Amino acid sequence: MKTEEKNAAPRVRIAVLGQANVGKSALTVRYLTKRYIGEYRSDTDLLYRQTVTVNNAPIDVEIVDISGETTDSPLPVEQVEWSDACVLVYSITDRQSFEYAHAALQRLLKTGRPTTLLANKADLEHLRQVEESEGRKAASEGSCAFYEVSAVDNTAGLYQAFDSLLAECRAAQQHQPKARKFSVSKMLGTLIGSAAGKQHPPPLPVGGGTVVEFHKSDLHRTRVLSRRPNFAATASL
Ligand code: GDP
Ligand code: MG
Repeated sequence: MKTEEKNAAPRVRIAVLGQANVGKSALTVRYLTKRYIGEYRSDTDLLYRQTVTVNNAPIDVEIVDISGETTDSPLPVEQVEWSDACVLVYSITDRQSFEYAHAALQRLLKTGRPTTLLANKADLEHLRQVEESEGRKAASEGSCAFYEVSAVDNTAGLYQAFDSLLAECRAAQQHQPKARKFSVSKMLGTLIGSAAGKQHPPPLPVGGGTVVEFHKSDLHRTRVLSRRPNFAATASL
């Protein structure tokens, strides 16, 4: 049976979560492209794919950047289930976003996924509503990593946060070396790739990577189809 082992780099999937406007898109794009772009589309989830190097080894990282509409519920369940790990973001200028993140963190930890808490917009000290110690305490209660970062200032912590999380996921995968029977991501790519072709072009130029719309309905279809052994992933959709 052909498996994703054929690919050179292992794959890790990350969901970036948090309330609207905390900087999820800015941080995701900053991590992947080293660039800061002020305004982003926020009406749809986006799936970024890129190969990054962590501890001198390549990793095919897939990051779903959740849109505003899906973040008011306690947790976007399908995106979390899809992910290997989560980055939970709040803004130091928005106490409500911290409270959301604090509650979401407790739910996330129950899923057993490695999670990192990011306090963004650290450049806006004069607007601070959440002390660093509060974020650190919330993270340590859940034994998860914590960084105060700024997508604007390009702080080193944001790279450390993603890289450490990826390294943790790789370490966990290496302890569970069993390969998947098929590549959910590849199937998802086929599904959403064809759907995205009918939409607007990718909103951001991502150096060396790709970005497509991520639809929950496609994920659901992927799951349903995956249970049918005769399904051909290349069927035109
Ligand atoms: P999302 O809804 O969580 O994806 O948030 P966005 O990434 O779209 O960012 C929301 C707003 O905050 C935009 O106007 C960004 O330019 C701004 N923003 C994001 N990160 C930072 C940051 O680190 N510092 C400052 N000052 N503004 C930021
Ligand atoms: Mg966004």
